[in-house]
Amino acid sequence: MAEEMRIVLRNYGKVDPLNIDSYTQVGGYQALAKAKSMSQTDLIEEVKKSGLRGRGGAGFNTGMKWSFSYGVKADQKYVICNADEGEPGTYKDRIIMENDPQSVLEGMAICGYAIGANKGYIYCRGEYPYVVEILNKAIAQASEKGLLGDFNIEVRMGAGAYVCGEESALIESIEGHRGEPRFKPPFPPVIGLWGKPTIVNNVETFANIPAIVDKGADWYKGIGAAGYPGTKVMTLTGDIVNRTVIEVPTNTTIRQVLDDFGGGITGGKKFKAVQIGGTSGGFIPESLLDTPIDFDSMSAIGATLGSGAFFVMDETRDIVDVIDRISKFFAHESCGKCTPCREGTQRMHEMLHRVKNGGAVAGDLDYMERLGSVMSKACLCGLGQAAPAPVLTTLKHFRNDYTAKFN
Ligand code: NAD
Repeated sequence: MAEEMRIVLRNYGKVDPLNIDSYTQVGGYQALAKAKSMSQTDLIEEVKKSGLRGRGGAGFNTGMKWSFSYGVKADQKYVICNADEGEPGTYKDRIIMENDPQSVLEGMAICGYAIGANKGYIYCRGEYPYVVEILNKAIAQASEKGLLGDFNIEVRMGAGAYVCGEESALIESIEGHRGEPRFKPPFPPVIGLWGKPTIVNNVETFANIPAIVDKGADWYKGIGAAGYPGTKVMTLTGDIVNRTVIEVPTNTTIRQVLDDFGGGITGGKKFKAVQIGGTSGGFIPESLLDTPIDFDSMSAIGATLGSGAFFVMDETRDIVDVIDRISKFFAHESCGKCTPCREGTQRMHEMLHRVKNGGAVAGDLDYMERLGSVMSKACLCGLGQAAPAPVLTTLKHFRNDYTAKFN
């Protein structure tokens, strides 16, 4: 039986999110003090050595990202916590912020010290107004007690656009512009908010930081999979007995997540597929369930870990119908800035809708594969690049579900 391991959720149920004293009583803000006793370069090296990779979905080495901002001379630098959490089925950041907001603030302040930034923003999705309240109270308490030093944090609210979770669109949104991604490079660690070096990390990434500084890189890199160490917080939704949130070491397999934590499929039905990483994740069939959930193992099977959302489907689910709905979501959320995404998401949805309704024309499936391949390479940002993943993986693993719709 696989077991949970709580690093990010270490204070879950143990601290009162609205009372900072309960956080300091369990050792809160000792990691920031320890970080400040280290040189900036030693601190960044420690985070790099821990092997921590971004938990928003892209898996970039966190310490390395910080080193890019540290290396740029600038009169102002910024730290942004990406709490936009727009990926359907993903609610891990909400759980973290609701239950232990101070860990996130402490992680941001440690990053601020490391790169030389005194200003931080938390960009929280507009659908979480109660979380914004908790964050504002937590910031006020930390500032009042002087625990953040000269590091100042402000909360900004999104307004429901999925693309604003993409870091450069998020930056545009904070600047007061329409939320559209920028061309990269330059990457935000070098040229970000208002043209200044900016670290954008996910909530879960920041929540890991105090524990890493406290216990050391060697402790962290010994947990889970070697190439993607630590734990991952995951959310389970769909046809699964326990629809819940869990935190497990990254060498846990998909099957263990489904059986040991999820409790299996609802109603005694058979498993059909699981989509991991939210709507932009690939679909995984039974034959690949013994894959560990870590970033590289998932990429090796042509899937993504992404934000860690598990959307489980039983044998009765109509895969083409599910994909049709997902493609509608992407067509709606595409910001329209680049042609492959603006046009690609629309055309993909049209074709899927046609297949679903029994009106497929010759070559539709091949055309969808070609279009998906072009989009994954040519779209400007992660939204369009990831949008075809559900189509491509289901055409690979569940092609019969498509052809069964042909008249
Ligand atoms: P990316 O690989 O382009 O970048 C990842 C991070 O590394 C960014 O912060 C980027 O600035 C940095 N980076 C990469 N190369 C760099 C370089 N050469 N120099 C400096 N910095 C560099 O990925 P992305 O577009 O930021 O994110 C895509 C992921 O987002 C997808 O894999 C998906 O899983 C995830 N996602 C998450 C959610 C959610 O709600 N959590 C929603 C949608 C998508």
